[in-house]
Amino acid sequence: MIRERAYPVDPWHIRETRLDLDLLAQSESVFALSNGHIGIRGNLDEGEPHGLPGSYLNSFYELRPLPHAEAGYGFPESGQTMVNVTNAKLMRLLVNDEPFDVRYGELRSHERCLDLRAGLLERIVEWVSPSGQGIRVRTVRLVSFTQRAVVAFLYEVEPLETSARLILQSELVANEQLPPMSKDPRVAAVLDRPLLAEEMMEQPTGGILIHRTKASDLRMAAAMEHLVETPGRHAITTEGHPDWLRTTVACRLEPGQKLRVVKLAAYGWSSMRSLPALRDQVGAALASARLDGWDGLVQQQQDYLDAFWDHSDVQVEGDPEVQQAVRFGLFHTLQAGARAEQRPIGSKGLTGPGYDGHTFWDAETFVLPALTYTQPSAAADVLRWRHSTLDLARERAQTLGLSGAAFPWRTIRGQECSGYWPAGTAGFHIAADIADAVRRYVQATGDFDFEREVGLELLVETARLWRSLGHHDRHGRFHIDGVTGPDEYTAVVNDNIYTNLMAQQNLMAAVDACQRHPDLARGFGVNDEEAASWRDAAAAVHVPYDKELGVHQQCEGFTRLQEWDFEGTPPEGYPLLLNYPYFDLYRKQVVKQADLVMAMYIRGDAFTPEEKARNFAYYDARTVRDSSLSACIQAVMAAETGHLELAHDYLGEAALMDLHDLHRNARDGVHVASLAGSWIALVAGLGGMRDFNGQLSFAPRLPSRINSLEFSLLWRGLRLRVNVTSEEVTYSLRNGGGQARLTLIHHGKELEVTQVRPVTMPIPAAVPPGPAPAQPHGRAPVRRAVH
Ligand code: BGC
Repeated sequence: MIRERAYPVDPWHIRETRLDLDLLAQSESVFALSNGHIGIRGNLDEGEPHGLPGSYLNSFYELRPLPHAEAGYGFPESGQTMVNVTNAKLMRLLVNDEPFDVRYGELRSHERCLDLRAGLLERIVEWVSPSGQGIRVRTVRLVSFTQRAVVAFLYEVEPLETSARLILQSELVANEQLPPMSKDPRVAAVLDRPLLAEEMMEQPTGGILIHRTKASDLRMAAAMEHLVETPGRHAITTEGHPDWLRTTVACRLEPGQKLRVVKLAAYGWSSMRSLPALRDQVGAALASARLDGWDGLVQQQQDYLDAFWDHSDVQVEGDPEVQQAVRFGLFHTLQAGARAEQRPIGSKGLTGPGYDGHTFWDAETFVLPALTYTQPSAAADVLRWRHSTLDLARERAQTLGLSGAAFPWRTIRGQECSGYWPAGTAGFHIAADIADAVRRYVQATGDFDFEREVGLELLVETARLWRSLGHHDRHGRFHIDGVTGPDEYTAVVNDNIYTNLMAQQNLMAAVDACQRHPDLARGFGVNDEEAASWRDAAAAVHVPYDKELGVHQQCEGFTRLQEWDFEGTPPEGYPLLLNYPYFDLYRKQVVKQADLVMAMYIRGDAFTPEEKARNFAYYDARTVRDSSLSACIQAVMAAETGHLELAHDYLGEAALMDLHDLHRNARDGVHVASLAGSWIALVAGLGGMRDFNGQLSFAPRLPSRINSLEFSLLWRGLRLRVNVTSEEVTYSLRNGGGQARLTLIHHGKELEVTQVRPVTMPIPAAVPPGPAPAQPHGRAPVRRAVH
């Protein structure tokens, strides 16, 4: 685990000042760069030592059989695994006749720094070879946000004290050997040499490698080119092999002289394009990168990020560690989605192979809220991707004997890839999560073209799913039985409250959208009768409640299950999924992650404040947070129920998930949902932002240690800025001209903001919330302030 303060606190940088080989894999995830299309892990330039090498292309996957110990009807038989594609990061150095390898000789100093404002990863090293030759190496890399096929590297090396012969070997390598797979179900399957060589082309300063996958039949190309600057003479050659290409630069330098090599690399892949077409595609991407050169690419990266931070930054005063972590989280959220362009966002983005690179509800429910209000086009693109998989989802519904569309619990291309149906197929709530993301996006942007092209059909097909999955009982109540909600420690249940309330919203959103677009709806076969059946089901949705305890039930019967023995569970027993049988988890009151608490956030309109307070206390005491998706949502509900210090603790946990490696699996990639969730914890938690029924509302309140909070939101083309202190809040519009006005609710009171008239409102005194809820024994979050 990365111990506290592994990375010094700094508002805009993540800095590593010491190389700990045991933590290499984690830091490779933390320092991963991506633009949503290409992702490269923060591996050392020379490739070794490494924790886990990794280079990825969004949606470039290989098929593999999904073996089931006992087969059953409707079980998916084929899985998809993200491929570790051709590595363009490799730049090995030979100093005189010794390889630069930090495991040998003396590493005099080491620093790596991820600059969140510049979008660059820089490394500065001083090393003395075993025979005593000192060198200074500075490398900088970027994955371009503006040229989505381009990755660029700067490599500078100079000899120290005495002159040296330097040989730099810059490579493209396909089919790298990967470390063996562990038994943890959250890691990925290791594919053995997944790439078949199709073409290799070398030129003196670079070349191209083209490969295809064996079963999924996808083709990829990687190309590289080098620009060399050195004071004296140098020799440059390139040699190739079907699986690797190596450009070698050799020179001899005096102390004070520098070899400077810029490596430009380009990637492309396709399921349809021919080999020559793909070859040309990467050639063109390289030409475009060459046109701008290193300085141009760096400048474009800077301009892109200046614009991003200008409208997305969240400023938190009073907890610098959280400030840094939240920016780190926003940076990775951007990296995951910026240029995904109608492709999915995986639960690890493109930072590591965890969960096989699959996308889950994490994208729609955790990442998209942040993107919708900061980078709306990226949010729309993810939903366009979902829309493009509708036929597969319809087919799946048919296989399951259902109507409409059954979206996969986990996938890359759109087919269900979960080999464990109680936490896969039964996780039907993914449909309502997609519908919720559609609703939120349309509401926040007013993009009705999107609703017509993409949103309506998604809402209609998901509503159809709910109508066929649920049923009215003899009293007319609508039940959805045999499903799994977000809490995967309670599976295949009747009337999971989150699923039911989300389905209710989904059904009504479909009714409303059909009313807005009656012709289109008719085109999708929706008639009055069908729309009425959705309305009836929504009105009759069963919401389980335990009258005796005065709390809602996470699912029917939950509160009468046996309690989990938290006192008797040792710290090393967590996460429970790795140490206890599901059989035992399923029959007891132990909650993996926010479920009913999640429902109280997204469907907060369905609960009274008193119900929220009682439910939160009951469920917080039974939630172990074995999923990284939990803390951010618990932060939101802790804040809403008045437990501000606890909200701050949970916010810290969500934000520091990877910088502190709190779940001890950051090595497999960063936890994108938790990182985006830290935005949710701040904006919806401490800022109290909600968007029920198209109405933007806020109820900000700060915990004792946070003096001020500032964030911006895009709402229907207007940029709203919210500045919160412990006493008051100022709402202002940053664009829109004199005519623009925005009506919002502040702590229950309606007000209007215009560009010329910001509004400052006092924060009303809070009703004392009573004692903060206790967490299960040993599971309290790290305290960020005195309670
Ligand atoms: C969580 C799911 C989540 C998945 C991927 C699981 O541990 O329980 O809710 O979607 O991880 O992040």
